Amino acid sequence: MEKTIAVLRGDGIGPEIVGEALKVLNKVAEKFGHTFHYKDVDIGGCSIDKYGVPITDENMAVCKNADSVLLGAVGGPKWDSCPANIRPEKALLAVRKELGLFANLRPTKLFPQLASASPLKPEVVGNGIDLLIVRELTGGIYFGPRKTEEVDGEKVATDTMPYSEHEIERIGRVAFETARKRNKKLASVDKANVLDTSRLWRATMHKLVEEYADVEYSDILVDNTAMQLIKNPGQFDVLVTENMFGDILSDEASMLTGSIGMMPSASLSSGTCGMYEPIHGSAPDIAGQDKANPLGTILSAAMMLRYSFSMAQEADAIENAVQQVLNEGYRTGDIMQPGCTQLGCVAMGDQVVAHL
Ligand code: NAD
Repeated sequence: MEKTIAVLRGDGIGPEIVGEALKVLNKVAEKFGHTFHYKDVDIGGCSIDKYGVPITDENMAVCKNADSVLLGAVGGPKWDSCPANIRPEKALLAVRKELGLFANLRPTKLFPQLASASPLKPEVVGNGIDLLIVRELTGGIYFGPRKTEEVDGEKVATDTMPYSEHEIERIGRVAFETARKRNKKLASVDKANVLDTSRLWRATMHKLVEEYADVEYSDILVDNTAMQLIKNPGQFDVLVTENMFGDILSDEASMLTGSIGMMPSASLSSGTCGMYEPIHGSAPDIAGQDKANPLGTILSAAMMLRYSFSMAQEADAIENAVQQVLNEGYRTGDIMQPGCTQLGCVAMGDQVVAHL
């Protein structure tokens, strides 16, 4: 296959971790006979420095014309005082909007080799954690009408959480399809005992249940989900939820693994194009020191192969290589354990390539 990938290295550790992911993709291309064309795109602080904006129209067009987008991270103290409309993260919102990325997929996997990094007790994580949250990304309270007004001599602020059936159905389909590719178990998270939007959410999900009869489906309230993630995270496979619940629950879930540098993510549209990035930020405290863990970005590249290019075998190969590298005791500083061998960012990328 021949694919064009827009490469958004960004700021801080972004260029270092993306560099390692590209090395891994090049090895996959060589091994499986594919050709990947990379188009470099400035985004975030580096684009502000060069062009005065976090992403130019020309660079946005490169992203739109690519088969997929790979991102490192944006931002850093240098740009913290920029006016709100030209801050680095504005570019991420703009890319999400332009590419119609309405579904955010965040796998949370506790690698058995890193079990001691989890803040949960060994008996709770004993069976491992391997769940995936599908979060609706372009609707709900973050985008609904809002206002702050004077009422009876005091300020009153209102945010609204609108959801339409078609928005719920399309994220529902992504979730059911994703569950089919995993262990065929889906829990839909809502607050249907209180919110109208949740009642519509639940009713719309139930309409899909028959079509995806091979997937074991359940409803769960958001407050109970927050508890169950801590009490028994091993019970979950795929969870689907609206924007704000997903924002909060996916951060809670990612912390169960205790290793932010390991976690990948994907943002998907109704087509095959998606944006793939690690969940962490630009880590300015370790930038340029060859200390960053590139595995979250490498695993994001694996998600790109799986979800945008339908290259399941190639994605498996990357994930297996990461497992083997961990099995052999190689660690970056953030996940270092006694008795293991500490590597820098580049050497960790080299190890993954070597195990492919
Ligand atoms: P951060 O995720 O960058 O860093 C938090 C801590 O985790 C730091 O100690 C850092 O060194 C460590 N860390 C993060 N990634 C790591 C990796 N791959 N390997 C080893 N250690 C790692 O969060 P922050 O410090 O709150 O934010 C720094 C900047 O990143 C800010 O400007 C913020 O706005 C931006 N940010 C960007 C994104 C994004 O691009 N998607 C997301 C979050 C934050």
